[in-house]
Amino acid sequence: MASELEPEVQAIDRSLLECSAEETAGKWLQATDLTREVYQHLAHYVPKIYCRGPNPFPQKEDMLAQHVLLGPMEWYLCGEDPAFGFPKLEQANKPSHLCGRVFKVGEPTYSCRDCAVDPTCVLCMECFLGSIHRDHRYRMTTSGGGGFCDCGDTEAWKEGPYCQKHELNTSEIEEEEDPLVHLSEDVIARTYNIFAIMFRYAVEILTWEKESELPADLEIVEKSDTYYCMLFNDEVHTYEQVIYTLQKAVNCTQKEAIGFATTVDRDGRRSVRYGDFQYCEQAKSVIVRNTSRQTKPLKVQVMHSSIVAHQNFGLKLLSWLGNVIGYSDGLRRILCQVGLQEGPDGENSSLVDRLMLNDSKLWKGARSVYHQLFMSSLLMDLKYKKLFAIRFAKNYERLQSDYVTDDHDREFSIADLSVQIFTVPSLARMLITEENLMTIIIKTFMDHLRHRDAQGRFQFERYTALQAFKFRRVQSLIFDLKYVLISKPTEWSDDLRQKFLEGFDAFLELLKCMQGMDPITRQVGQHIEMEPEWEAAFTLQMKLTHVISMMQDWCALDEKVLIEAYKKCLAVLMQCHGGFTDGEQPITLSICGHSVETIRYCVSQEKVSIHLPVSRLLAGLHVLLSKSEVAYKFPELLPLSELSPPMLIEHPLRCLVLCAQVHAGMWRRNGFSLVNQTGVSMMDPNHFLMIMLSRFELYQIFSTPDYGKRFSSEITHKDVVQQNNTLIEEMLYLIIMIVGERFSPGVGQVNATDEIKREIIHQLSIKPMAHSELVKSLPEDENKETGMESVIEAVAHFKKPGLTGRGMYELKPECAKEFNLYFYHFSRAEQSKAEEAQRKLKRQNREDTALPPPVLPPFCPLFASLVNILQSDVMLCIMRTVLQWAVEHNGYAWSESMLQRVLHLIGMALQEEKQHLDNVTEEHVVTFTFTQKISKPGEAPNNSPSILAMLETLQNAPYLDVHKDMIRWILKTFNAIKKIRESSSTSPVAETEGTIMEESSRDKDKAERKRKAEIARLRREKIMAQMSEMQRHFIDENKELFQQTLELDASTSAVLDNSPMVSNMALTALGPAQTQVPEQRQFVTCILCQEEQEVKVESKAMVLAAFVQRSTVLSKNRSKFIQDPEKYDPLFMHPDLSCGTHTGSCGHIMHAHCWQRYFDSVQAKEQRRQQRLRLHTSYDVENGEFLCPLCECLSNTVIPLLLPPRNIFNSRLNISDQPKLTQWIRTISQQIKALQVLRKEESTPNTASSKNLENMDELQFPEGFRPDFHPKNPYSESIKEMLTTFGTATYKVGLKVHPNEEDPRVPIMCWGSCAYTIQSIERILSDEDKPLFGPLPCRLDDCLRSLTRFAAAHWTVASLSVVQGHFCKLFASLVPDDNHGDLPCILDIDMFHLLVGLVLAFPALQCQDFSGISLGTGDLHIFHLVTMAHIVQILLTSCTEENGMDQENPAGEEELAVLALYKTLHQCTGSALKEIPSGWHLWRNVRNGIMPFLKCCALFFHYLNGVPSPPELQVSGTSHFEHLCNYLSLPNNLICLFQENNEITKLLIESWCHNIEVKRYLEGERDAISYPRESNKLIDLPEDYSSLINQASNFSCPKSGGDKSRAPTLCLVCGTLLCSQSYCCQTELEGEDVGACTAHTYSCGSGVGIFLRVRECQVLFLAGKTKGCFYSPPYLDDYGETDQGLRRGNPLHLCKERFKKIQKLWHQHSITEEIGHAQEANQTLVGIDWQHL
Ligand SMILES: [Zn+2]
Ligand SMILES: [Zn+2]
Ligand SMILES: [Zn+2]
Ligand SMILES: [Zn+2]
Ligand SMILES: [Zn+2]
Ligand SMILES: [Zn+2]
Ligand SMILES: [Zn+2]
Repeated sequence: MASELEPEVQAIDRSLLECSAEETAGKWLQATDLTREVYQHLAHYVPKIYCRGPNPFPQKEDMLAQHVLLGPMEWYLCGEDPAFGFPKLEQANKPSHLCGRVFKVGEPTYSCRDCAVDPTCVLCMECFLGSIHRDHRYRMTTSGGGGFCDCGDTEAWKEGPYCQKHELNTSEIEEEEDPLVHLSEDVIARTYNIFAIMFRYAVEILTWEKESELPADLEIVEKSDTYYCMLFNDEVHTYEQVIYTLQKAVNCTQKEAIGFATTVDRDGRRSVRYGDFQYCEQAKSVIVRNTSRQTKPLKVQVMHSSIVAHQNFGLKLLSWLGNVIGYSDGLRRILCQVGLQEGPDGENSSLVDRLMLNDSKLWKGARSVYHQLFMSSLLMDLKYKKLFAIRFAKNYERLQSDYVTDDHDREFSIADLSVQIFTVPSLARMLITEENLMTIIIKTFMDHLRHRDAQGRFQFERYTALQAFKFRRVQSLIFDLKYVLISKPTEWSDDLRQKFLEGFDAFLELLKCMQGMDPITRQVGQHIEMEPEWEAAFTLQMKLTHVISMMQDWCALDEKVLIEAYKKCLAVLMQCHGGFTDGEQPITLSICGHSVETIRYCVSQEKVSIHLPVSRLLAGLHVLLSKSEVAYKFPELLPLSELSPPMLIEHPLRCLVLCAQVHAGMWRRNGFSLVNQTGVSMMDPNHFLMIMLSRFELYQIFSTPDYGKRFSSEITHKDVVQQNNTLIEEMLYLIIMIVGERFSPGVGQVNATDEIKREIIHQLSIKPMAHSELVKSLPEDENKETGMESVIEAVAHFKKPGLTGRGMYELKPECAKEFNLYFYHFSRAEQSKAEEAQRKLKRQNREDTALPPPVLPPFCPLFASLVNILQSDVMLCIMRTVLQWAVEHNGYAWSESMLQRVLHLIGMALQEEKQHLDNVTEEHVVTFTFTQKISKPGEAPNNSPSILAMLETLQNAPYLDVHKDMIRWILKTFNAIKKIRESSSTSPVAETEGTIMEESSRDKDKAERKRKAEIARLRREKIMAQMSEMQRHFIDENKELFQQTLELDASTSAVLDNSPMVSNMALTALGPAQTQVPEQRQFVTCILCQEEQEVKVESKAMVLAAFVQRSTVLSKNRSKFIQDPEKYDPLFMHPDLSCGTHTGSCGHIMHAHCWQRYFDSVQAKEQRRQQRLRLHTSYDVENGEFLCPLCECLSNTVIPLLLPPRNIFNSRLNISDQPKLTQWIRTISQQIKALQVLRKEESTPNTASSKNLENMDELQFPEGFRPDFHPKNPYSESIKEMLTTFGTATYKVGLKVHPNEEDPRVPIMCWGSCAYTIQSIERILSDEDKPLFGPLPCRLDDCLRSLTRFAAAHWTVASLSVVQGHFCKLFASLVPDDNHGDLPCILDIDMFHLLVGLVLAFPALQCQDFSGISLGTGDLHIFHLVTMAHIVQILLTSCTEENGMDQENPAGEEELAVLALYKTLHQCTGSALKEIPSGWHLWRNVRNGIMPFLKCCALFFHYLNGVPSPPELQVSGTSHFEHLCNYLSLPNNLICLFQENNEITKLLIESWCHNIEVKRYLEGERDAISYPRESNKLIDLPEDYSSLINQASNFSCPKSGGDKSRAPTLCLVCGTLLCSQSYCCQTELEGEDVGACTAHTYSCGSGVGIFLRVRECQVLFLAGKTKGCFYSPPYLDDYGETDQGLRRGNPLHLCKERFKKIQKLWHQHSITEEIGHAQEANQTLVGIDWQHL
């Protein structure tokens, strides 16, 4: 692409470069017609600069535009060189106090919950940190782009409107000052001129609609013939569709197409072809044809290149204007003036108007440029903000309509500015009074909902998809209405009153269209389904609910307004239901001597609507009348008499009946009880109850005297009875609500705090809850704070979260008595859960289980009469009837919950009476006489017993066991009230027979209770036993759950490490003096066939499920990775450990053949499943992956279980005479030499075999060495097979190559994996300060043992000569020979890997040695040799002297020795090694440096030889250096190794130091790893999450030139920020497109990655291309909860423990396993396209 552009750069018109800004400006200053002059300049130059080829070249264009076009303007404006002019302007400027920073996408914004006037008031991070709000309760969100910082806006904050930075200039508050006084007349005039011309030009060209013709004054003669095919963005077609179409239409590569699509999506348009008209037209028609099939086609235009050029410059100009006004508030004011000045065409012709009105026609990029200009100019100037607001309001209707028909998101529409304007209280108020804004918004809204039914109500039934789409968009107007209403007026002018009431009228008009809309007819036996149109109506109602309450809030502030609003609302309600009796038959109902007139109406047969907003509003206003006491102050002003309570309750009642009938509990929350309370409070309770019975269609049942017949009648169908039962339950519930719900201020004598307290108590009665859960469960009010924080302490305890889970609130026990079983916000399910929880709690506290109604606050006077329902005759009749049924206990004819409700109502009445008595004053008589009434027997003709008597009967009914406690509570309370009455003797209560009986029965009762408790206890114990039995079965069936517990359970490991036989000896892990461990027989059980088997050399193989993976966890160099795995030589591990192979196992044992069968069946099943369902699974069968059949742990191979392999080969023991190190090295060197000669002979073509043999004799084999000897493999076939299987798997995974069991690298990979795994476990133990041989989790212990023994046995299945070859080469790295030249220097060898390789390869050599040197001797000498090399390595790399840390004690033996050794090194390196005189210091460094190595060796030899670990190393403590040395058969003074083997030491050291790499290192030309290697950690995360957000918001996509990344994602391993989940940063990996994260894992974590998705606050684990899961982030809010997705916005802080846990997962190599478990648990995770993240 660069080559294409090259000639263009050269082709810059010389005239452009010669054009002088100063001269042009001078010409303009002289001009008589400036406009013409400037336009000619633009007409000439713009097409020469912009749009010169198929692709834009922004740097060049910008440079030339600045030089030729903008430069002259700046000169003209300043009247001098702008380089001096602008700074002058800036200095003279008095900046405003507003911050006004426009937010970028993803930038953090802060709102103060204490001080922000409304939630839309936000601060930028800088202002927030400098404000008082950082210590308040704040909320943090990420901006979606657009919007600006409100710092400095006094209207936005109740307190602290300025941050430190913006406070500076507030000393003189001079907002009225004209900013123009700081400018000279000249500057003002010139600025005015140039702004006017340029702004007009930009508006004209951007709104230009012709495609090939320019405005006349810009046309030029020599017009080129080039066109663009311009593709525009829409929200209909997908990315993929666009890319596909483009490839076809303009014949470009996929990559180019992606580039086009990305730009179209971002900027709103992009030219996709450049050329003559025909050429472009052709592309256009292909695109249109290809995208018009299902939807409307993509928008494409063929535009003349000069138009595009001018438009591009127009945009540039707008941003330039935005920059220039930044220099001075005066310039800003001039621009505002220019923008709002009315044009020649009168109304709506100002430049600002023209832009706004064309908004929906402009492409995205143009829109955002001019929106930003508006924000930085009009909205930043206090005077013009007002004028602009008026323009905005005047155009409101048109702008909204444009928005509704447009398809772009709201953030790209000018209509979205409403939030910036309407939320400013003073502006909102002004717009209401001057522009009648409320009315305009509501009317505009209604205009868009044109479908009405015959009664003029909204109708959503026949909505097309398009209308539904518009309906969704039109809802944004409701937000506008809310913005306007957010801040309530503090004082009312007559104007405001008038305009508000006008708006209120419009609002009532709207509600009227909703009252009764969408009526439903319930058809018996038919289920009501959620249909789409039904949902639309419901959405509307829900959205308006908030507006209704805001309207009420406004009304509450002014008595005059309230009264007027009440009247208006009543009038509208009358209109709605004026004729509600039409055609409905009047009837008379009577019960107990009361009668009432009403109509016949059957809910079950007629239409009922659930939408009754007018009724709701009226009820709300009625409560306000009570709360504000207007009702008592001005009764004469209120039309209370006009109110017909039966009419008011009729429709809500119908609605509730409908709900009862369809069992739809969800409507209860909508507050109809309030409407009913309002109506009922004005009625005779008996009348109300009768009407209610009638509406519930229960009137007949309760009014018929011989109700008993109801059951005996054979005609009565069982279903009908049950239906009636449900209705009776619902009706009783409604009565409980009407009498009991008193917690709204105005209804009961409570305040808002009481209300919220009660909500919290009832939510926590169900179960303890986390903060967010609780917030969600409280009735939402998005406009107000719930105020929960202020009361939660009073009612709940906070329980802190642990490592997982969340912080929880628990109800305080003393609050339990306020629990109301029939709390009206409970759903059915919640109610029964709460009941169960509360009863359980009471049982635990050994209390009775009655849940009596709580004591309620008194009603406000306007509602006081409601309590009389409880003692009304009809109520008593209902109670008596239900109790009678219960006494008769007649089959299914009554229900327990019916009885329970009646008991609750009786309880409420008793509480009420008791309270009345408690609060009685001398002169008043308590008129509430419920106790009296229930003591009276029923009247003739039934002569039924009194309610009280029936209760006493029921108390002993065996079938009412559950309610016994409640009945007993009622009787007790009754007696208590009786006593109060007697003592005050206000009113005598009739004596009843039951009360005496009650006393005597009490003792009996106690005994009974005790007996029952005993029975219950026994039963519990039995159940517990059963449970634990079941659990055991459950473990077999649900292994995964129990994996954690199994880890600690030693049953799978049969080897007893700490056998007492050897405990008294000093333990030695290796060498000739190795502690001999008696052979132990090991029995294991196969998890698949459950057969037990002994582990033996010759028996069938037993295997452990294992998972091999590549690892960079220990890597000290993440930039290094294997380039060409086919050629890679893994023999020497570099000390940077850059890529290791880790083996893990869950420790579960199977027969090899059982596993094979299992694996085959999994494979077959998976193949079938994939063919059938095309589903991914959490494991990749083709790669040999499977899940452990017991614990479902991800595995990809198996390790054979072996006995200590050394014992098998160590039979030829001759401990007596073993060679010393020097001698041994000599012997081994000779053997190696012999082998090498032999190999050479073999490889040369055998001319004469006899000659070879002769040579061999000549060679003089070292004594007892028999290279022709090949030992017999002792293992069974099955074990051999498994040795090969695991070896091949390690090779395949570790090198990422195809399996090849013959490859000579197989044994190296096995040893490497063993070494690497031990190293990683040693790191974990050290990091956690755990003892080396402490209680290791069983699975780790098993894994290490099997892995080590496997690695030690693997040589038996490999080629002997190959292994010998490896040994020779490894050995040569320390003891040089002539045959190995280019071996790595000792600085570049990881000594532990070297040791493991040497020790495990050694048997291949030793088996041919019959001289009597034991394997143990070899091990010991190898170990000593490697240790010496490591010491030298440490001394060379890790001894830097710190100042002032000199030794204090006289030098010890070690210190002198190490100093001497160091001197030798100094000599050998030709004095390049820095001199360090402190032996103490050196010794300390050696000790520290070598510890990890010694620990790894201890683990290695422990598992290799099975020698128990010394008890000292089983506990944590100080360094244990000496114990380690003893266990490893090392002298405590390590330097002795050198001294003891003096003869050879010198030679070795010299050969190590003379290496060129050592020299380079010492001369500072290269780096080397120093020791001890520090453990890798995940990156440091900031304490405050918002600083991460801020960091990420400054991050732009590295590939698409400065664009903000949409999903910035942080690698927690190395700290790189990536542009995830986006086309721009996809790269190709192994032939597939992958996202930035997946690509990064390959270099940073060899396939495994740990990321933090910053904008979501979510941790992401990735493994390979197909696996991933989300993990809970280490950030918690103050309530101990995470906020995945950042939805709640509470401040988040780092939880160190949780972060450590993630780090631990990483260190343990458990990320892949974690993903596996997450995917098994949640199948939807499997479907996610992880590779594109
Ligand atoms: Zn700010
Ligand atoms: Zn500020
Ligand atoms: Zn604050
Ligand atoms: Zn088996
Ligand atoms: Zn397992
Ligand atoms: Zn990107
Ligand atoms: Zn990384």
